[in-house]
Amino acid sequence: MPSVAVAQIQTRTIEQCAGDSTARLLDWYEENARQLPWRVAPVSRRPGERPDPYRVWLSEIMLQQTRVATVIPYFERFVARWPDIASLAAADEAEVMSAWAGLGYYSRARSLKRCAEIIAGQHGGRFPCDLAKLQTLPGIGPYTAAAIAAIAFDEPAAAIDGNVERVLSRVHAIAEPIAIARPKIRKLAQALVDAKRPGDFAQAMMDLGATVCTPKSPDCPNCPWQAECAAFLRDEPEKYPIGTTKPAKPMRRGAAFIAIEASGAVLLERRPPSGLLGGMAGPPTTDWSARRDGAIGADAAPFTADWRLCGTVRHVFTHFALELEVWRCETQRSPGVGQWWAAADRLESEALPSLMRKAIQLALAIGGNSGYARPPKNGKRADV
Ligand code: SF4
Repeated sequence: MPSVAVAQIQTRTIEQCAGDSTARLLDWYEENARQLPWRVAPVSRRPGERPDPYRVWLSEIMLQQTRVATVIPYFERFVARWPDIASLAAADEAEVMSAWAGLGYYSRARSLKRCAEIIAGQHGGRFPCDLAKLQTLPGIGPYTAAAIAAIAFDEPAAAIDGNVERVLSRVHAIAEPIAIARPKIRKLAQALVDAKRPGDFAQAMMDLGATVCTPKSPDCPNCPWQAECAAFLRDEPEKYPIGTTKPAKPMRRGAAFIAIEASGAVLLERRPPSGLLGGMAGPPTTDWSARRDGAIGADAAPFTADWRLCGTVRHVFTHFALELEVWRCETQRSPGVGQWWAAADRLESEALPSLMRKAIQLALAIGGNSGYARPPKNGKRADV
């Protein structure tokens, strides 16, 4: 491959490379910007239109660990129901959690509500544009603060997430793992920020990482940085970032107990406010221990009944994977404190995390008493 070109790139300073690279990226963005419901297109930003900081903040919180396609319908429902920071601050927290159900990482929703209350109560309903002040707010870390500052306020902040780290480690063929190269990448990213168009630049980087320089099979022929990309010129774009193989997540195990009434109603309760899935609705479950070995069994059920094992559902959280045994019983008992019977025809509208929804679907399918999910073939226990 063209080693001369690589050598030329490597002898240029960051500042020399940055101006041209930024201009090429912004030109590409003008033509290829994704249309997103929280975004103001580059053609509208040019004469001065800026997005509502509330919408930028909401989208950035929702996009943490979550794909754009998943976020869009949630975002649209949220802004239809709570169109501004004041309405979200005044909202009932249970309703906010309910509207978040299925989006995952529920601590984000609790932080979102707290942040809205602080902005409404202590900042006169306006988001600060200052990076340091933004980072004092619940749920806003360095990346989210930089994204809000750049996109909503055109502050020259570099919003650096995993996508940006991947792109820059390829463009500069950085021969160190990201964890070591982070200070260098920060410097490279900051040097690229366009002082006149920081908001467009931040969103252009996001779009490049999401649509062209993807983790697998980067689309180098359509990349605005092909000419200066060291990884491309060496014909090894997928070699970078170096050493990013993730260690396997530890496995935990637990059990969910699905009690079903004669009418088909399912016993639900609200989980404790803190911890994983805190404050969300679900069937009674055990703790999720750190140990994988050994079945949990019906002995751990919340009350004595003819519990039957239906199978196992699997779910991957940020720090561990979970195998959840699913047990079911039929019962006429009265709900305990903090519990309720959720009618079969209302289960779809209950605000359940996807893990809990999967467990209930499995139990109902095995019982064959609901159209909520199809029964498994041959009457075998199912794994989901
Ligand atoms: Fe990524 Fe390829 Fe573009 Fe380099 S040329 S930044 S590897 S898409």
